This record gives sequence, structure tokens and C-alpha cells, in this order.
Amino acid sequence: MKKITSLIAISFIFLTSASFARQAAFNGDSYSISLNYNEVASPGDAVFVRMNVSRTKTAKADLSGTEAKLELIVDGKSVRSSNFYVLGKAKKEGKTMLTGIPLSSWWTMDNKCSLKISYKISNETKEFSLPFSLDNKSFISETIKLNETNTAIKTDTSTKRMNQISKLNTILETINPHNVYSTKPFVPPVESTRRTSYFADRRVFQYSSGNSSTSLHLGIDYGVPTGTEVRAPAEGKVVMAEERISTGWSVVIEHLPGLYSLYYHMNELKVKKGDSVKAGTLLGHSGATGLATGPHLHWEVRLNLEAVSPDFFTTNFAFEPTEN
Ligand SMILES: [Zn+2]
Repeated sequence: MKKITSLIAISFIFLTSASFARQAAFNGDSYSISLNYNEVASPGDAVFVRMNVSRTKTAKADLSGTEAKLELIVDGKSVRSSNFYVLGKAKKEGKTMLTGIPLSSWWTMDNKCSLKISYKISNETKEFSLPFSLDNKSFISETIKLNETNTAIKTDTSTKRMNQISKLNTILETINPHNVYSTKPFVPPVESTRRTSYFADRRVFQYSSGNSSTSLHLGIDYGVPTGTEVRAPAEGKVVMAEERISTGWSVVIEHLPGLYSLYYHMNELKVKKGDSVKAGTLLGHSGATGLATGPHLHWEVRLNLEAVSPDFFTTNFAFEPTEN
């Protein structure tokens, strides 16, 4: 098979549709491509690209097998990549695809970024670049004193805890291209907007022994009383519902290939592994199980294993066309 690689970036027409969203279009002889993506994002957010490939009226080519890959270039190096998955049905006439890449909360606006998309269409491989940049975001630093019980949990290196960690990571690193459940904006899991910790807080844990360790807070903590209803933010499938040493009663929901939402320290669960959920389905009630200094709900979102800001997913991150 002969592979042809050509750069077609100059043929794209860019249109700004919102403050951070870009639309771009390429019109060729036999097919056209239209793109929507967030051209600017904060460290700890994600970049999502929605790509529509369609053949021109007179063309005969079968576009149903079109494949595409997104790469993030940071300071001249390709650091992350993610394959596009299909939204809806792939047809000969064309298809709509989506993918996202997590952005590290350690990067800053000084990191020079760009995106590269490569795609295989009718046995030809092509690629093009898209402009992309990070904006300025600062994160909170905090010191948390742990009592003996919480110190014991945090420093627990038992086989049981290590197995729980590797079991969760195995789930979170699974990217099944067929598991497309929801592309709608997430609805926050509790009604309360009272936050006691934020995404990507830089934490120092002071142990009861006098030692300390540093870590990153991977989600948002809502300071809600034990018994508060916790609801699914969007359609998906429950892939974990069990008690864990450090996170207490925990739920993990799969929403898109590589995209998961997590709920920790619950008092009781109302779903089990394998359940299908919709936006608003009751997952359980909040509590203070596992490593918790008081009752709260920890809400976390993972994309391709990396923790990303849950707030980003309450926006129209997948560029769903708005219904009129
Ligand atoms: Zn938390």
C-alpha cells in the first residue's frame, strides 16, 4: 500500500465561533473536513477535537473506514496522542469523530503548544497542524494535618491497598473506542456549590509521626453533610462500585472512550458495577469513608488515565450542535 503524506494546513479556513472555540474547514475535490476544537485551554483542562469528514456530491470514495489521530506538540515534542472514535454511525458518505487529550496542570502558558492531526482516508495518509495555546491559571497550595488514623491510611503499603490501586488504574487506562455513552455537558453531582478543596491544589500532608509528603488533589471536594444525594453527571456505565481503603465507598462511571468520572468517600451506594446510568441517576449518598477529615464528596474526572478539571466537562466540551 502506497502512503502519501502531505501537509494541508494552509488550505484550512479558520472561523472563530466563540471565545475559545474554533471552527476550521477544508474543502477538497473528493471530500471535505470540518473541525471544532478549543483553541485555548487552561493547564489541567483538556483539548477536544470534533472532526466531520464528508465526501463531495460527485465523489464515489467510501469514507466509512477513515481513521484519525490527534497529537499534542509541546515545546517541539509530541507528548500525547489519542485516536479519534466515531460518534453515531460511520457511513460511506462520511462520519463524525471525536477525541480529547488531557493537559497537565504542571504546564504553563510559557509552554509552546500546537496540535497535529493525521488521518487515513481512501488509503492515503495526510496530516495537518492546528494552532493551540495554554492560558494562565494559578493553583492553590495547602497544608493538611493528618491524625493517626488518616496517617495510617495514607502510608498504608499493604498488598490489599496496592491491589486496589492497580485495579483502579487498569480500569482508568482502558480506552474502548465503542463505549460512546454521552457527549453532553456534565451536570455537577451535588446541588451544593460549597467547595472545600479545588482541582489540582498542591498539597503537603503532615503526618502524625512528624513526617510529610506532597501530592496533587485530583478532584473537587464539595463540603456537603453525610447523606447528601450524589447523582450521575451524564449518561454512562458504572465500571466500579465498591469500598476502598483510601477512598471509602467509591463509584466510577465510564462516559466516553478513556473518559471516566469518580465519586469518593460515600456513605452508601445505590448502583452496582454494570449498571447503566443517565444524567441525574442517584449513585448514592455522600459521607466521610476512607481518608477524609470530614464529610464531603470528592468528584474527579480522568481522561486517558490523567486527572483533569471536572469544571471543563460542564461546558460543551464535545461541541454538540445546539438544538433549536
Ligand atoms: Zn478530594
